[in-house]
Amino acid sequence: MAVETFDASPVYLDYNATAPMRPEALEAVYDALQAVGNASSIHHHGRDAASRVDRARRQLAQLLSCSPGEVVFTSGATEANNLALQAAYAESGLIITSSVEHPAVLETARALAAGASTGLVTVSVDEDGRIDLDELRGAVQERGAALVSIMLANNETGVINDLAPVVEVAHSAGALVHTDATQYVGRLPLDLDELDVDLLSLSAHKFGGPQGVGALFIRRGTPLPQRPLLLGGGHERGWRAGTLNVPGIVGLGAAADAARRLLDDEAPRIAKLRDLLEGEILAQLPESRVNGARAPRLPGVSSITFPGAPADALLASMPEVAASDGSACSAGAPTPSHVLLAMGLSREAADSTIRFSLGHATTEQEIRRAIDATVRAVIHVRTVMDATVAS
Ligand code: PMP
Repeated sequence: MAVETFDASPVYLDYNATAPMRPEALEAVYDALQAVGNASSIHHHGRDAASRVDRARRQLAQLLSCSPGEVVFTSGATEANNLALQAAYAESGLIITSSVEHPAVLETARALAAGASTGLVTVSVDEDGRIDLDELRGAVQERGAALVSIMLANNETGVINDLAPVVEVAHSAGALVHTDATQYVGRLPLDLDELDVDLLSLSAHKFGGPQGVGALFIRRGTPLPQRPLLLGGGHERGWRAGTLNVPGIVGLGAAADAARRLLDDEAPRIAKLRDLLEGEILAQLPESRVNGARAPRLPGVSSITFPGAPADALLASMPEVAASDGSACSAGAPTPSHVLLAMGLSREAADSTIRFSLGHATTEQEIRRAIDATVRAVIHVRTVMDATVAS
């Protein structure tokens, strides 16, 4: 099979919604799709499927510096988040999280705590999107055992949370720590020997694997009651029943392996392209604002507010670029971004924000095209808006 490398027109700058498949993952998935075998069957074909899954588990474990036995494959980060929160809530009856989490954490936490007024604490963030550690410390110390769920990197702004003090505060109060690392895994090095979280969620399609497959890391020895969301044949050591998605898992493994080998080179290259994008846009449109600019951020994410230019009009005026007007996961909902509002942006500013997200296949030429298209679109939309106001 000829595996095409990714060549997008319009310029694809929506890696946080989903990244193009890495060629290594495409080939691995194609190969796995040609094989037959249920990983639970004991005959030759079943053992072949099981060994492909084992390899993928090892590849992911190597990327995360954890043990393969600490990985539970799921359908993605949404399921991994649901699984982690449901199991932990069953034990502690309290989730402490932040106001900028992905809906897969926030909505799950709200649903679990519905009716129990004391079951959920939502910690605020500063204007750069970093969680308020003092507020978190206060909540943890006052309430004790809980699940603390704080994302490693934000999907809308790329802002990275320093989890070391979060883990320290939580563990010293007997609380478990879960992190939604969906946007971080495969983009920057992650070492679970150093980052002492108990639970971590990820999704393959954010780092070049297929959609619909992910994993929950559960650190060995974590006192978490086993509360599977799906009951059945007891797959994944009882954590997640259902015939394993072998091609998906194999693609996840191949993408993890490629990311591990390449990310030391990719991350600085992508950060340079992101800096070029932001530098040029701010130089040509000086009133625009980069959200989370003073916080550590993922290399490939840029959330830019263009005052006076609504994002939906902007994106419609720049069809040469595929970017996002907020989080793709809440696309279709006409509500402004809860992340940007939590960072103190006005509704109007939040509605005038575009998220560009770059990744492994992004080129400088694409970024230059995106800069030109964005600047032209902002000037055009503002002119139209001014004319509308004046008429
Ligand atoms: N968490 C974060 C931070 C995300 O960005 C996403 C995907 N947008 C998810 C969870 C959910 O991932 P999936 O849709 O692959 O389950």
